[in-house]
Amino acid sequence: MAKLKQLGFDSVRVEPFEMQTWMRGEESAELISPFPQPLEITSLGGSVATPEQGLEGELVPFASLAELRAAAPGSLDGKIAYVGHAMQRTQDGSSYGFYGELRRVGASVAAGKGAIAVLIRSIGTDSHRFPHTGQMNYQDDMPRIPAAALSNPDADQIERVASRGQPMQLRLKMMPEVVGTTESGNVIAEIRGRENPEEVVIIGGHLDSWDLGTGAIDDGAGVAITTAAAKLILDAGKRPRRTIRLILWGAEEVGLLGGRAYLERHRDALEQQLIGSESDFGAERVWQLTAQVSEQAQPVVDLIGELLAPIGVARGDMDKPGGGPDLIPMVEAGMPTLRLVQNGTDYFDLHHTHDDTLDKIEAAALDQNVAAFAVFAWLAADSNVNFRQ
Ligand code: ZN
Ligand code: ZN
Repeated sequence: MAKLKQLGFDSVRVEPFEMQTWMRGEESAELISPFPQPLEITSLGGSVATPEQGLEGELVPFASLAELRAAAPGSLDGKIAYVGHAMQRTQDGSSYGFYGELRRVGASVAAGKGAIAVLIRSIGTDSHRFPHTGQMNYQDDMPRIPAAALSNPDADQIERVASRGQPMQLRLKMMPEVVGTTESGNVIAEIRGRENPEEVVIIGGHLDSWDLGTGAIDDGAGVAITTAAAKLILDAGKRPRRTIRLILWGAEEVGLLGGRAYLERHRDALEQQLIGSESDFGAERVWQLTAQVSEQAQPVVDLIGELLAPIGVARGDMDKPGGGPDLIPMVEAGMPTLRLVQNGTDYFDLHHTHDDTLDKIEAAALDQNVAAFAVFAWLAADSNVNFRQ
């Protein structure tokens, strides 16, 4: 808030909300037979702890979530499930939804078969010994068992041992805890519109990040890109017709808590939330523009497309609503979105790991992103069209 005030934005404020806060603790794992081998693991967000002395069990390998689901109930009694299921890289990151399901639901599926813990191959595309964390959830009707991700090279090693048919014994210790209710919030700053200030165009990124790295690509980059884009417009000295609202979302990683809190707070002003775009896919160059808007708003999107074409942004078709995770609650409530799609080919090398640090960001690529968001924010806010379909 201090920085945003210093930059000269209007109406800088925080909209607070409460959240349950989980904290990582000491965590380690090792193969104890057929030979000793320390493994690089990390707890999945929201996981319960092991007993203080850790736990041990036979490690039973599965190639995929589907294979784990097909296991007989009781077949994993007293054992630890390992699930492979290697994610592949794509430019648009679309495989994250499919492979990420293992992280979200794996623990309860394994618990349903009797497992005492679950270890998954990281939902990530690198081959370094950095495990990828991320939020998981428990099904209410299943025992809660500890869940951790294994770095990809360690997962390769487990699969090699498994392929020889040798029984594996694993020791696992994780000491995360739920510290209780804490306060988070959405930090908001505006460029107030000159004609219809109550109508808003939303841009932003999320302030929270996983604890292992510094959160430079997820999502310091999005915060920086959209703040810089708004600042460019502010410094140009002209005000758009409608308000540009920069939202730096809180608590995205643990379940879109900021996005949900924003929807609740602004329910009475839904129609005035004209259109939004969040930057939450790293800081590589924007290569595609997609939008889901009314016929009437097409010329505005066409002009944004024309202006961005010289910096490498091509028009694409939006087959489903996009525009960033924090906007999902608003999209479900009918708000249109425009997506400036970053090249995500390498995004899942770093995502949710110790390796998500600032040195991975290239300044020239960041500039291209800032230009794209500035063009969108200005033209959408200075228009007088209705974006809703
Ligand atoms: Zn993110
Ligand atoms: Zn994330």
